[in-house]
Amino acid sequence: MTFENNLAFAQSLDRQDPLYHLRDEFLFPKQHGTPFIYLCGNSLGLQPKTARSYVDQQMTNWENQAVEGWFEGNSPWMYYHKELKELMANIVGATPAEVCPMNTLTVNLHLLMVSFYRPTAQRFKIIMEAGAFPSDQYAVESQVRFHGYDPKDAIIEVAPREGENTLRTEDILAEIAGNGDQLALVLFGGINYFTGQWFDMPAITRAGHNAGAIVGFDLAHAAGNVPLELHNWGIDFACWCSYKYQNAGPGGISGIFVHEKHFSDTTINRFAGWWGYNEQLRFKMEKGFTAEAGADGWQVSCTQVIPMALYHASLKLFEKAGFIAPLREKSKQLTAYLQFLITEVNQVLGFEQYKIITPAAESARGAQLSIIAQFNAKEIFNSLVANNILGDWREPNVIRLSPVPLYNSFEDVFTTASRLLTISKELITPKH
Ligand SMILES: *Cc1c(COP(=O)(O)O)cnc(C)c1O
Repeated sequence: MTFENNLAFAQSLDRQDPLYHLRDEFLFPKQHGTPFIYLCGNSLGLQPKTARSYVDQQMTNWENQAVEGWFEGNSPWMYYHKELKELMANIVGATPAEVCPMNTLTVNLHLLMVSFYRPTAQRFKIIMEAGAFPSDQYAVESQVRFHGYDPKDAIIEVAPREGENTLRTEDILAEIAGNGDQLALVLFGGINYFTGQWFDMPAITRAGHNAGAIVGFDLAHAAGNVPLELHNWGIDFACWCSYKYQNAGPGGISGIFVHEKHFSDTTINRFAGWWGYNEQLRFKMEKGFTAEAGADGWQVSCTQVIPMALYHASLKLFEKAGFIAPLREKSKQLTAYLQFLITEVNQVLGFEQYKIITPAAESARGAQLSIIAQFNAKEIFNSLVANNILGDWREPNVIRLSPVPLYNSFEDVFTTASRLLTISKELITPKH
């Protein structure tokens, strides 16, 4: 599409957008009574207007039924997760049996590594991206130590080349192949939180498997953002949080994926709890753990009903949107429009004040653009916020802007760029 840098054009795209009305389903934070243009859904998604009633429903169930709520009523808590599984499966491209909502993200990463990082004297290494989200780095380092290895020996980080900001797929694949006989696990983010780079997940999975390793992904920035085919790509395991692109609220419940090829493997270890026990027999309270079939067998504690209610509210909006395919079509346009307008801002300023480090190829990014602001970065970010544009800030000079197709419009993107230009003209004193 050929974009135009004017408000009427942005508004015409909004009029043609079949998903435009979905923004009415969300609550926007305000500043001095005016709603923010919210471009921070990569960090914390907005509250669906229905979220409160989903929680209220469970409060009422608790009030009226108390302990009987586990088995009685319109949707007994014992089986509540099954309603979510159907919806989650659509978001990540899995069968319902392969996914389950439980715990929080880093906790699940640990639980899944207990099952899928099984180092031997020969194969004990893990390959991951350099600059992974810190929680993932800490999780992996501590898992490695837990097995008695030194992270310096066991963790291989693939880094961008000198002078580059993102990884080349060929470098990732070469590193995997080059360490083939020592590799236990390939553990990558689906999308890197800092750069917004969407890795070539099928290629990484194939390379990992060719090397004889297990392949897992942290999909915190990918789930609900880009189309995923976890089952068809043959990925072994994955986990994600629900509070970024999936709008399930701060600290929202996490989701896991375990590929069905592992369901019948009884040698897989897990840190078990009663909720992972065979559902039919769970309340016999017997000695000796027998796992429930599928991803549900990784549950540890009883269902977190309130966080699940919040996730449920949001998943129903994805269902209303037609799940990821239509959202992705809009998302590609929104992000491409933002990219186009940032380039226009640079042109007016006469130099590359804003350098987008997120890959330009749409197959290598989701909604987010990570932008290095060359001069006066922090002042510019603060001024955007003062002008009702809420993106997010990463030290030392990166502004992340994520137009989210569920609730952002082309007009939001246009207004963001036009305010950015005004602010830049006011604030920048380039030293050249
Ligand atoms: C957001 C994010 C987390 C956060 O983990 P929590 O356990 O939910 O606090 C972890 N890893 C990645 C890659 C993230 O983007």
